[in-house]
Amino acid sequence: MTTASRNKIPATLIPGDGIGPEIVDVVERVFDALGSPYEWERRQAGLNALEQGGDLLPEATLDSIRRTGLALKGPLTTPVGGGFRSVNVRLREAFQLYANVRPARTIIPGGRYENIDLVLVRENLEGLYVGHEHYVPIDDDPHAVAMATGINTRAGSRRIAQFAFDYAVRNRRRKVTIVHKANVLKALTGLFLETARQVASGYEGRVEVDERIVDACAMQLVLNPWQFDVIVSTNLFGDILSDQIAGLVGGLGMAPGANIGDKAAIFEAVHGSAPDIAGQGKANPSALLLAGALMLDHSGLFNEAQRLRAAIDAVLATDSGRTHDLGGSVSTSAFGDLLTERL
Ligand code: NAD
Repeated sequence: MTTASRNKIPATLIPGDGIGPEIVDVVERVFDALGSPYEWERRQAGLNALEQGGDLLPEATLDSIRRTGLALKGPLTTPVGGGFRSVNVRLREAFQLYANVRPARTIIPGGRYENIDLVLVRENLEGLYVGHEHYVPIDDDPHAVAMATGINTRAGSRRIAQFAFDYAVRNRRRKVTIVHKANVLKALTGLFLETARQVASGYEGRVEVDERIVDACAMQLVLNPWQFDVIVSTNLFGDILSDQIAGLVGGLGMAPGANIGDKAAIFEAVHGSAPDIAGQGKANPSALLLAGALMLDHSGLFNEAQRLRAAIDAVLATDSGRTHDLGGSVSTSAFGDLLTERL
């Protein structure tokens, strides 16, 4: 280890597929300009790892994350068919990344909604995502009936509710809204609601508590999103609502996400590998950079996180700082240059 690298935090960097390597190059340059807080261990995953004769999720990549406990991941292509399990789901399970955190904040003025600033916390391991599904054949129809079992536990519900309320306190958020469907799924989401209420009682006076049924919440997010602050929900509802809140602030191209467990945390852009524009310099690196800002927060490097967000906001506020998806013409790499000049 060199003297210069002694204080750096080891972290795994996964370039991924499609536009992944292009946007990860920008992230590396921008983080260098921020003072290189991380000592990157570059590891492969996704289609490129498979094509090099390995697994979609190679053991060397898992080993690196086990060691560093911290990863920034470019988007991965999941091959269609062939029984491939999603790498993202495998990573969540392997490292018990029980909390998915998706902030949504208006950055570009003139969009659909101004002044949005909310955070969705989603349970990431339980619910209907446990994948206990099967068909029941009747007569000559092998798919006559489909059945799925959702599993929520008291311990899992407590852990995610605790995470959401702690997050609210740590980040000076005023309110947590518990989102459920306990009027119909009385046991499955009733247990989540009951447990989240118990957790909420421990934060009385510090954080305001609100409850919404998921369908009403979806409508309210369109009618008056400003009433929300932190939202906490079960796996499937959280998945759907998190894309909805990304839509409030300009779509998936700007949306970062964090998957957090007790022993590891993995940060990523919400969008995929965008094969339609790969290699053309058209990719917007903002979502992965904002995921990098979440990682800096997670590492306690709040000053660096703030500098990075301010630089992204400033570049995107200029007409010449918009990539193709935002109606501009700046290339991926030139966007990186504009950012590093601001840092
Ligand atoms: P996608 O998000 O890759 O692309 C959807 C559309 O948005 C495309 O037109 C694309 O060009 C555009 N887009 C996405 N990110 C952009 C960016 N940063 N800048 C500019 N434009 C951007 O979704 P898809 O096409 O449905 O999926 C492609 C592949 O990505 C699939 O193999 C899918 O499994 C995978 N995927 C991976 C992740 C992940 O690793 N987290 C998430 C979603 C999809």
